[in-house]
Amino acid sequence: MTYPDTQLFIDGTWRAACDGATIPVVDPATEEVIGHVAHARTADLDDALAATLRGFDVWRKTSPFDRSKLMRRAAEILRERADTIAPMMTREQGKPLAQARMEVMGAADTIDWFAEEARRTYGQIIPARTVGVQQLAVRHPVGPVAAFTPWNFPINQVVRKLCAALAAGCSFIVKAPEETPASPAELIRAFADAGVPNGVLGLVYGVPAEISEYLIKHPVIRKISFTGSTPVGKLLAGMAGQHMKRATMELGGHAPVIVAGDADWEKAAAQMAASKTRNAGQVCVSPTRFLVDQKISDKFLDAFSSGLQKIKVGNGFDEGVEMGPLANERRIPMMEELIGDAVEKGATLVTGGHRIGNKGWFFEPTVLADVPLNARIMNEEPFGPVAIVNRMASLDDMIAEANRLEFGLAAYAYARSHEAVERIGREVESGMISINHVGLALPETPFGGIKDSGYGTEGGSEAVMAYLDTRFVTAAH
Ligand code: NAD
Repeated sequence: MTYPDTQLFIDGTWRAACDGATIPVVDPATEEVIGHVAHARTADLDDALAATLRGFDVWRKTSPFDRSKLMRRAAEILRERADTIAPMMTREQGKPLAQARMEVMGAADTIDWFAEEARRTYGQIIPARTVGVQQLAVRHPVGPVAAFTPWNFPINQVVRKLCAALAAGCSFIVKAPEETPASPAELIRAFADAGVPNGVLGLVYGVPAEISEYLIKHPVIRKISFTGSTPVGKLLAGMAGQHMKRATMELGGHAPVIVAGDADWEKAAAQMAASKTRNAGQVCVSPTRFLVDQKISDKFLDAFSSGLQKIKVGNGFDEGVEMGPLANERRIPMMEELIGDAVEKGATLVTGGHRIGNKGWFFEPTVLADVPLNARIMNEEPFGPVAIVNRMASLDDMIAEANRLEFGLAAYAYARSHEAVERIGREVESGMISINHVGLALPETPFGGIKDSGYGTEGGSEAVMAYLDTRFVTAAH
């Protein structure tokens, strides 16, 4: 397939950067440069900001009914183009083609769901203390939004922010990932082709730190939404706070997986082997710390490790491939360092642990067992296909270990007793907990973290509220 060069989208026009600057895009499976993406300069950002202000004025006055119709049309366009967009994503990001196609189709479903929510941004009438006084709580779009999204799910990371903003009546500028620019550009194109007015949508790429600093501080921008690592999220949240901008932060995780003594450990091993290797483990909700009751830990470790060994790793375009390469070169030394450090500190390398070949950033699905708490990987998000399996003596110990870290994004558990299920649901400190199945990230359910994993939710009805102000209007006659 031919891979397109990607341009900026500003004020309804696809264009190069003002000085023609570009950044190369590399295929993670072959390490070849496959195209270029426009590199926005300050002048381009100024154009995008001026356009977003005009776009906001048009979009806030567009009725929720009409916004909803345009969004639905974008979803249809995206579905029609899925077979063209998915290969672009596989080429730039590495994930297997079927998973790329699922991401495109899933994005269309997300758009449809938010299109419905667009029509339900209800306010309230509050009974007054005096006859003749009216008291209204009304919702208004917060204003132009600046969003920053990562490379692991090039479309999915944009679509949730974009749809919540559009549903609320906000205009939206996104700095999409420079590593994987073409597929998110196709998402924006679907909305543009559906007839979303000029200026409502802006798409830029460049140096992330420069763009975020410029946009977050800029008076035109009223709301920030970021997905990425906790350290960068803290930096951006601090900047947003200084400038009194509302923010949604979807940050890192280190998901614990509790496997209780009475659990269906075979089901747990099979579901978690698939879940761990999805997107080569480069998922913020990827299961990482397996806390397994010692009564079943040998059986679980065996089944889980052989499940991972069977995963077919390769170029995402090849038939039957279940796991592609890591998305960028820096992930390989990171995996090697974390694994080396754990083994040095006494962990057992059960399977995997190495780069595959020397062309393309492929890495073996890896299991480390009996990893001590002082190993870096017990504390830092691996963001790759590496799992830790530790034996635990009791549910109390599992819950304590699950809650030990400052991360609180996703958690998983397998248990049969009602008592264990109830305790896990109540006591594990996590924004999302999936028990006895893998059931996270639907558009209609909350998606977000607590503690150092951020704040705000990108799914469910609260997702739109994050883009609305509540204002009070009272009148007497
Ligand atoms: P990184 O922290 O440099 O970048 C992560 C993302 O944040 C990238 O998309 C990057 O463009 C963006 N970013 C970085 N600095 C920024 C800034 N100052 N302003 C705005 N955006 C900025 O790390 P990386 O090597 O690209 O990815 C590895 C780490 O990032 C992982 O360990 C993981 O914690 C995190 N990450 C998380 C997600 C997620 O879904 N939550 C996705 C991708 C990466």
